[in-house]
Amino acid sequence: MVCRLCKKDRRLLRESHIFPEWLYKPLYDDNHRFFVLSTDVNMRRGTRPKGIYQRLLCHECEQRFSKWEGYARDVFYDLSLKVVEDDRAVVFSDLQYTPFKLFQMSLIWRASITSRPEVHRINLGPHTERLRKMLFENRPGEVYEYGSILMLPTLSQELMQQFVYPPESIPTKIDGHSAYRAVFGGLFWLFIVSNHSARLPHQEVFLSKDGNLPVFKVGGPAVKFMQQLASDFFAAGMLRDSK
Ligand SMILES: [Zn+2]
Repeated sequence: MVCRLCKKDRRLLRESHIFPEWLYKPLYDDNHRFFVLSTDVNMRRGTRPKGIYQRLLCHECEQRFSKWEGYARDVFYDLSLKVVEDDRAVVFSDLQYTPFKLFQMSLIWRASITSRPEVHRINLGPHTERLRKMLFENRPGEVYEYGSILMLPTLSQELMQQFVYPPESIPTKIDGHSAYRAVFGGLFWLFIVSNHSARLPHQEVFLSKDGNLPVFKVGGPAVKFMQQLASDFFAAGMLRDSK
């Protein structure tokens, strides 16, 4: 069996989650605080859908991913991080650029290589291999290279907190750049995958090298998209009614 990250032939590959389980829970609550994970078993019971798993990585590579994911989880759940909020965005500061950026990149890469039917088929072309190399070599790249933009839709998190929506290609390019949208942890994520992303005009939308991560408050299209998703999911019986 060949590990998809290091490409070495391994006796056994790990049953890896495609997306970390904690992304199935909301990262933000209605009181505009980022959540602390509940240790109350009763609160957790039945609220977490099953994750999606596939044998993709060897033990060593899995460890690497765990490190980035553990860091990202701390960012969202650790209230000791400095957070500044204004009308436009919630901005985290003092993040470590490398693990958080690699975490973001790992989400879109894993979505692109899995064959699980629950995940949309996305074809990143040559970017899949470029992403693999960067992940393998621990190279987070420039802020605009495979950067993602995080948005907090201004509607009740109740609706959004019970599913993840794996990345799918957006129908129209943004300024000529291909992009993929997803819902993780009740946030709307936009991944920019483009050869000429260095030309993107507003690079402050990404995680900066000095560790500022903006999460933009949005209405309009992102809200509509997420509402549509939620009602589709309810219609398909994939979400339990929380009332
Ligand atoms: Zn490996």
